[in-house]
Amino acid sequence: MSIQNTIQAIQSTLPPTAQLIAVSKTFPESDIEQAYTTGIRDFAENKVQELTRKYENLPKDIRWHFIGHLQTNKIKYIASFVHLIHGVDSLKLLAAINKEAAKNERIIPCLLQFHIAQEDTKFGLSLPEAEELLQSKEYNNLHNIEIHGVMGMASYTNDETQVSGEFQELFDIFTSLQQKFFADKAYFKELSMGMSHDYRIALQHGATLLRIGSTIFGNR
Ligand SMILES: *Cc1c(COP(=O)(O)O)cnc(C)c1O
Repeated sequence: MSIQNTIQAIQSTLPPTAQLIAVSKTFPESDIEQAYTTGIRDFAENKVQELTRKYENLPKDIRWHFIGHLQTNKIKYIASFVHLIHGVDSLKLLAAINKEAAKNERIIPCLLQFHIAQEDTKFGLSLPEAEELLQSKEYNNLHNIEIHGVMGMASYTNDETQVSGEFQELFDIFTSLQQKFFADKAYFKELSMGMSHDYRIALQHGATLLRIGSTIFGNR
């Protein structure tokens, strides 16, 4: 199937509460241009240099999501235009993003990344760590970032019961943080979970942002 047909096929199965983000990392700008003709405007990258190059060369109404591990010294290259930073897992990183956002006189939306998979190589916070962060004085003085929700990656396994349990865990974390810290913040509404191989399961547990790459663009 073509890039366009695949995007339309995926979108036709999504509930109105879930949004597709096309993960274009490693794929050429010509592939993004093809995808763009379907009307999709949300694309995700995980390398700062690749993201800035694509941002410069492609239409300016694209909403660029950053889904990789962000180094503090590179935030400045994307701070003026990034739409949403998905993988924030420390107060230090959040403070650094806030600083660059302030320089650009804007608010940068971020998601807190949680460790839900069994593999211990993946980044992410635990619920107690997130609560400590959100209760800290330093966090409450950051006025140029907004936490719009949570993000996570399930274990890479064919065991659907396990993946299902991990997505449910992230849903429960989302609900708990929403009630405890963001009850009056309508912008706290995103649950970024689900990739090519597991997004159907993520949808069953309330995913609002799906990060799908290889199904759309092919194998990397
Ligand atoms: C690459 C990547 C994706 C997309 O993975 P696919 O298997 O290609 O759909 C989603 N989320 C993150 C964080 C990624 O790095």
